Parts: sequence; C-alpha cells; structure tokens
Amino acid sequence: MAISANLGFPRIGAHRELKKAVEDYWAGRTDLQALLTTGKRLRLDHWRLQKDAGLEHIPSNDFSLYDQVLDTTCMLGAVPSRFGFEGPLVDVDTYFAMARGAEKAHAMEMTKWFDTNYHYIVPEFEAGMELRRASAKIVDEFLEAKDEGIVTRPVLLGPVSYLLLGKAKSPDINPLNLLDRVLSVYVEVIGRLESAGAEWIQVDEPVLVLDLDERAPAAFKTAYERIAQARRTLKLCLTTYFGGLADDLDWTMALPFDAIGLDLVRGPDQLERAVALLGEGRMLSLGVVDGRNIWRTDLRGAFDLVRQAVAKLGPDRIMIAPSCSLLHCPVDLANEQALSPELRERMAFAAQKLEEISILTRGVHEGADAIEAQLQASRDIFARRDSSVQVRNPAVRKRLAELSDEMFERRNPFAKRKQTQQARFCLPALPTTTIGSFPQTREIRRARADFKAGALGEADYRRAMQREIEAVIRFQEDIGLDVLVHGEPERNDMVEYFGQLLEGVAFTQNGWVQSYGSRCVKPPIIYGDVRRPRPMTVEWSTYAQSLTDKPVKGMLTGPITILQWSFVREDQPRKDTAYQLALCIRDEVSDLEAAGIGIIQIDEPAIREGLPLRKSQRPEYLRWAVAAFRLATCGVQDRTQIHTHMCYSDFNEIIEAIAGLDADVISIEASRSDVELLDAFVDYKYPNDIGPGVYDIHSPRVPSTEEMVDLIRRMAETLRVGQLWVNPDCGLKTRQWPEVEASLKNMVLAARKMREEL
Ligand code: GLN
Ligand code: ZN
Repeated sequence: MAISANLGFPRIGAHRELKKAVEDYWAGRTDLQALLTTGKRLRLDHWRLQKDAGLEHIPSNDFSLYDQVLDTTCMLGAVPSRFGFEGPLVDVDTYFAMARGAEKAHAMEMTKWFDTNYHYIVPEFEAGMELRRASAKIVDEFLEAKDEGIVTRPVLLGPVSYLLLGKAKSPDINPLNLLDRVLSVYVEVIGRLESAGAEWIQVDEPVLVLDLDERAPAAFKTAYERIAQARRTLKLCLTTYFGGLADDLDWTMALPFDAIGLDLVRGPDQLERAVALLGEGRMLSLGVVDGRNIWRTDLRGAFDLVRQAVAKLGPDRIMIAPSCSLLHCPVDLANEQALSPELRERMAFAAQKLEEISILTRGVHEGADAIEAQLQASRDIFARRDSSVQVRNPAVRKRLAELSDEMFERRNPFAKRKQTQQARFCLPALPTTTIGSFPQTREIRRARADFKAGALGEADYRRAMQREIEAVIRFQEDIGLDVLVHGEPERNDMVEYFGQLLEGVAFTQNGWVQSYGSRCVKPPIIYGDVRRPRPMTVEWSTYAQSLTDKPVKGMLTGPITILQWSFVREDQPRKDTAYQLALCIRDEVSDLEAAGIGIIQIDEPAIREGLPLRKSQRPEYLRWAVAAFRLATCGVQDRTQIHTHMCYSDFNEIIEAIAGLDADVISIEASRSDVELLDAFVDYKYPNDIGPGVYDIHSPRVPSTEEMVDLIRRMAETLRVGQLWVNPDCGLKTRQWPEVEASLKNMVLAARKMREEL
C-alpha cells in the first residue's frame, strides 16, 4: 500500500523552545542536561505529532542543536584542526565552537542553504584531514524513538551533496577526491543503523537539482553502489528537493536505491519520465505538498498527480511526501489566533501539511470517494481565494496593467543627473554617509514594545522617536558626516516595518522559521494585491530633515527584498507581486521627494539571493528584479539622488544587472573582502557612484583612521576617485554607541585625509 512519508520536521519548536534552551546554555544560565532534556522533549513531541497525523515514514536525525550539515561534519569527524578536536566523539562545546567560534578558533563559515533563508555551516576540507565516525547522534536518536515505539526513517545528508557543499581549504584539495574516505564512514553508520533495527533510511542529495559538472554522475554511481553493498535488508530512499533534476534525471534513475523522492511542486514535469525509468520493485516518493510555503495544497491537483503515478505503478510503489523537509515551514497553524478566518483557511503550517499527506494517502488506499469531502473543501477554499476582494484589488490590478515604459526610466542618463545633483548638494569629493540604522538601544526597543502593547500612547511614542532622531542628527552633524540619516529607531526589521504598513500583507504570532542556529525569523505573508494606504516614512524623514541643513537620506526597503523575505502568494507570478510592491515604494519615493527629501536610499540586500538555482533561469529573474527596482525608483526628477545598498561583495554574476538598476549611488559590503572583489565593478567600468564599505560593522572593533585611509586609497586606485563614497559596510543597529562614535569619527577623518591628497 502507498506510504505516507515526511522528509523532516521543524526542530525549533512551536514556541521556539529550542532557541531558548540553546541560548540559555550558551549564556551559562542552564547546564547541558537542561539543554539535552529540552531537545529530547521536542523530538518526542514531534515524532508523536507525526504519528498521530497518520504518517508512516517519520524522519529522525532531522533534529539538530544547530544545523544538520554541521551534524554531518561531526558524524564524519571532519572537524577543522583549529578546534583541537581529539575525540573520539565530538562534544557539545566543540560543536558549538565550530558554529559560533571560540576564544582561539574562529567560527566556520555559514552560507545559505540552496535558495532558502536557512543557513548551514560550510564544511571545510583541510589537507591531511582524518575522517572517522565521530558522532553517535543518528543511531542514538533512532533508538530514542524506537524506545517510544516509533521506528523512524533516519535522515542523512548524502555524501556527494555534503562534499559539494563544502569548501577546500587548500587549492590542491578537490572535495570529491575525499569521497572514498567519506563513504567508509557512511557505510559504518548505515551498518549501525541497520543493526539498531532501522528498516529505511533517507539519504538527501539536493545537489541533484543544481547544474552539476561532469564529474558528478560518476561520484554518485560510486557512492550509491558502495552504500548498496553495505546494506542487507535496510532500504534506501534517495531524496531530491528544491527543483527538478532535468537532464540529470536519467542517470540518477539508474542508481541503486529502493525509492527516490522527487519534488513535484517545483518539478512536476519529471514525473512521467521518472515513472518510465523507475524499474521493477522500486518506489517513487511523490513530493506533492509544498514544504517551502505556508499555503494549503490544492488537493485536487496533487491527487491528480498521485493518481497518474498510481495508474502506472500501482499503489504499492508510491510514497506521498512533502516536496522537501518541513524545516522551512512554521510548526502549527493552531497557534495562530489573530489571522482573519478568510486568510487562515488558505494556510497550512507543518502540522497541517502532514494532514494533507495523510488525506492524499488515504485517497490512494480507499479511493477518491473516501476523500471527496476534503477535495471539495480544498476546491472551495481556492475558489473563495480567487474571488476575494482582499486578494484581488481592482485598482491595483488596473495600475499594473497600465504600466508604461517611461515608468522604468529616469528622465536623463546618469552623467547628466550627476551634474544636476552636484549643483544641488555641493558635496565634497569622497562624500561620507552611513547605511541607515544607528544603535538600537534598550530604550528604543522598550519604547517600541510599549507602544505596541498599548502601554505607551501614540504621542509619547512619537516624542520618544523624535528625541532619538534628533540625537542621531546632532551626532552626525558634530562629527561632520556629509549625508545624514534619521537612524531608523522606529523599525524593528527592514521588511516587517514596511509589511505592517501595506495592505495585502499579514503577520503571524508564532510563524517562526529557523534562519540559522538559534536565530528564527517570522516572515510576513503576502497574500493579496499590495497597496500602500498612506505614506510610511515621510513623517520621520521630514522631521529629521527639519533639524539640519545637511541632506538627510530617506530610507526604504526595495521590492525584491520584501518579496524575498516573505511567504509569497502563489496565484500570480512572483514578478507581478514584485511590481505591486515596487508601485508602493514608488509612491513613497514620490511623497518623500515632494516633501523635500533630496536623497532616497532603497535597500536591496536580497537581490542576489533571489537568483534561481539553475543558471538557465537566472536571466529572466534578473530582468524582472531589475525592472521592479527601476519601477520603484524612476519616478523622480534628475535632482533627486537615488541610493541603493547591498550587503555582500560578490557581484561577479550580477554586475550587469546591478548596473541596470541605474541607482545614482550604490553602497556595498567590501571591507572584509579584499579590494580585488571590486574587480567586478572595475572590469565592467561601472559608471555610477559607489560606496564600498570601509569598515566591518559585524565586529565591535574600532578601525583606525590610517587603515581606512589605506583602504580608500587602494579603492581609489582601481575605481575613479570621482565616483567613490565613504561609508561603513552596513547599518549600525546591532552595534553599541561607543564603537559607533569612535569608528565613524575615524571614518570621517579618513575621508578628509584622503581629500587632502587629491
Ligand atoms: N538601511 C538598513 C540598515 O541600515 C540596511 C540593512 C541591511 O542592509 N540589511 O539597517
Ligand atoms: Zn546591509
């Protein structure tokens, strides 16, 4: 009979219990035992929840105290030598040191997990690294569940994905050359799982949805043949997700596995070919419930796909599963009391998605009639969505239909605008500015929280924020910055702030998703046409401008960043949602301009992370992402200066798109990288102005004037002095005032010194 399966459950807990437990342990408020107890309780709760939902294949080892890739690093004993690990097993403190750094050893690098907002700890491969099993976690957790009467399906990150996601620490190491040694450990671990009573394991190979190089097929063949030989009766589900396998499907289907998991949400077209290639006695795991969003599944559409597969393979060779681990979903919609019923009925968190998997599985077992009521209910929900006035706003749609080409173009080219702006602002060479936020002190946070809770009245709140803005303006004037900011005290988060002021965007109470380690985010939900009912920032910006003769930058978040950091509706292309957001920002830009704000910054730190996983899909994405930014910013006159900001320094693949934004000034992160990373701009002969960050705001260290002079000098040697601005890497909201004061003073001095050399 068809099997209902889950690929992974969110580990953080519905109320972020794991976050609290881990942070208490780090801070020394609790001991290790307390942390382990909380972890165990969460695992047991989650296993039981899945069992109660009717799931047959329930994952284990999807739990992690920090990150599943780091867990794999421990399993393999691939601990970088700087952590002084001797073994035999990696202890918790070494584990956390790898994730967060320790006194004498800096942390391992962290990077985005495919195109999600989850971040993993990047494996490091050193010369002479010895690999051996150095963690008992996967077997321990399997036995823990077994003790409770639940025979789980342990999850391992596959050996090829593990190696390809890591980084060689010296140029003579090719990660794939480590495959044999890595496989020895996998074989040992898999043997132990089999002895412990496991019947199935799930091995995740998400790199199969990327553009792989020519070495990959052989590596996969080696890996899975070796793993096949090591198993006796233990069955293996090879799992892929975050997209379709495209041309790599054919050889992948020839690998030895007992079941293969496909993401049929993003790659529905691979079903037919996979069915044809499956071969006798093997199972297909149909990823038909979307693990990447918070929407209910269109059960009819999903059931149609399932039926197609059942018709060819019969019910016994089918598993029904989410498209990927549910790690990327919040835990349970039952904890949401404040959503409108209309929106809520369309939503599903992890617990609800498991119910959907159960329903679909029952449909296979008992026939479509048995789930007819659920299929009908699903159809009704989608019909109500499509006719809802909260989802479809005629005025917004009309505006979107009537966009003209001029709305995407500034009136004149940059060179001409630059003259007009220079005549207006009379800025010195190497103008100094900051990225927007100033330290978010305890008082600021308290004022915002009290206001939200109703304990602080609107007028008092406003006065508190104004006091803060005034202090920030005075400070910037005192130290002699050229372009000032209001400091963003009224913002908790650069996306949430705008989301809360827009129609068509909702917020949850507990919709937490793990971002990295103990860090969680609660993404806004863009459920309908987006409209800006009233100005969002004009009051704060004009107040700040009223205090000074220097220009104060208006500060907005760009459409792509709002899109990228939200859960997004799926009844229209993302591009349309991006354009709707762009129109809201465009209106704000225009109101700021009319109110006398001459310089406006639109932050787009997420443009690059929106890049599709497949290269072939990137040009199309970049086209509409750039167009959305232009739509947001091109309504202004020549005399208004548009800035943008991005906090990374790798522009190689997107430099053309970045130039296409046509922002008058772009500030980027650069201080931690070498000046060579400006090469993309240099090689492209990037024409507009640019402010490469001259100091790292992620560290409390105060940079000296000399080192910043040196950095600016080197930047001026590769770029043109006339196009350079001087600013930090990013906003200052996480820093303390004493560091900010000292660092910015030094930065202004550095710019002045450099001006003398000109
Ligand atoms: N203006 C924002 C700030 O300064 C930018 C934040 C970001 O780039 N992530 O905080
Ligand atoms: Zn930034």
